[in-house]
Amino acid sequence: MIAIYARQSVERENSVSIETQIYYCKAVLKPDEKLKDIKIYKDQGASGSNTERAGFKEMIKDIKNGSVEKVITYKLDRISRSLNDFVGILQVFKENGVEFVSSQEAFDTSSVYGDLILKMLIVFAEFERTSIINRVKDAYSKRSEIGLYMGGKRQYGFSLKDDFINGIQTKTLVPNEKELKQVIYIFNYYSDPNTSLRSLLHSLEINNIKPLNGSLWTASKLSAIIKNPVYVKADFNVYNYYQNKGVKIVNDIKTFNGTYGARIYGKTTHNKALNDWSDMKLVLCQHEGVINPDIWLKCQLKLDKNRKLGRSVSNKSSFVSGKITCALCGSLMTTVKSKKSDGSFRRYFICPQKSHKKICSGCDLTIYADDLENFIDKCIYEKLYQFKTEYKENSYLTKSNLENIKSYLKHIEEQQNKLSDIILMSHVNKELLSALNQKALSLSLEKNKILNTLNQLKTKKQPVLNFTQLCQKWLEADFNQKKAVCQILIYRIIIFKDGTCEIIWNI
Ligand SMILES: [Zn+2]
Repeated sequence: MIAIYARQSVERENSVSIETQIYYCKAVLKPDEKLKDIKIYKDQGASGSNTERAGFKEMIKDIKNGSVEKVITYKLDRISRSLNDFVGILQVFKENGVEFVSSQEAFDTSSVYGDLILKMLIVFAEFERTSIINRVKDAYSKRSEIGLYMGGKRQYGFSLKDDFINGIQTKTLVPNEKELKQVIYIFNYYSDPNTSLRSLLHSLEINNIKPLNGSLWTASKLSAIIKNPVYVKADFNVYNYYQNKGVKIVNDIKTFNGTYGARIYGKTTHNKALNDWSDMKLVLCQHEGVINPDIWLKCQLKLDKNRKLGRSVSNKSSFVSGKITCALCGSLMTTVKSKKSDGSFRRYFICPQKSHKKICSGCDLTIYADDLENFIDKCIYEKLYQFKTEYKENSYLTKSNLENIKSYLKHIEEQQNKLSDIILMSHVNKELLSALNQKALSLSLEKNKILNTLNQLKTKKQPVLNFTQLCQKWLEADFNQKKAVCQILIYRIIIFKDGTCEIIWNI
């Protein structure tokens, strides 16, 4: 039996819905697994900080009596947010021969590099994400900002009508029933998991459904229609969908009541290529939507998935493929082979907007793949090494020096007492008082620090990881392992005009 586990958290107000999680989990089922029994375990509104969850407990029971062969979740943190719990649960899986797959993190205990990835994820769980990611991202978006939103086009299925709303002259959308009928056909057809844009094109053709403006359907026209929130009866699941993409939503979630369509806008040009929606805004419109939110969301998830697959399998020639980004236009750079004078080939990265369309001036230098890979290779090694040293600093405490710490704490408490005696007993002038207060403050800070370390020491179990091994594993990693590690560690590698590069880390 295959187990799918979904948990909607209480930690975050607008978290991914159970239904969406299950959809993603089913998407990673292998063909033969689709024929097997699938049991879905759900915990609605449960916290991931402990394992006291009804659905979860039921699953563990089934695992222990041997009826489960594989567990699939949307993300690792659905299982647990606590590292200790997580490692313990994985142990239970292992003891009972249960495979474990996360649909979003390229994590699969049955794959050859699952072990390496797991170790790394555990490392990551130990360190908080820092604000540095956002800082670098900001710098990047400023550098590559290249254009303005081109708006005002009529949306297929609607006519534009001049209107006054709250005294402001504007245009509203009026339904064009004949066109909308086609739009509904498109959504219904594509929401079926067994269809594709290509089969949709074919189906429109054999049913003689042509665009009413006299043009022809193309895959990009269809995907533009499917992506457009103007057609959906936007409800809170649609709100969540955009919220999870980082889109800023203008209206309150309460207004997403499944009636009105929505419009998405913003500086899209480079963000679309990066699949980064953080500059985008979503606003509810005045017109009523026509597509049921369930159907609309099914279509989005399918498009999103195809986009992701398209990118990851499109280029197997470099372990950093899919990460290298042109700073000028935001496009993902592709590898090209060139023949050297001795007849051998050399790979280099080039901006596709430069090579095909000549609309980007690209990088001034040739970015040879070997050079860049060597550089990234070194950076990743250093990153892993940094984890190792940071970890050492964090865990210098051992039981043998527990006594030392306790006596230091006592020493500080004595100093604090003395200090308050001085302040209370003697007539001191303002300057001295402020100096004494300073001292008192630094003592109490020091004390807090020690108390924290003591608490950590008491609660933290000794790590199961060997960090030296992690660095070593990187040195020995093969192409697929390197690619997988790259996927997790690196968000983007930005190549600037002068040939310099900047790595944006995920952690
Ligand atoms: Zn470019």
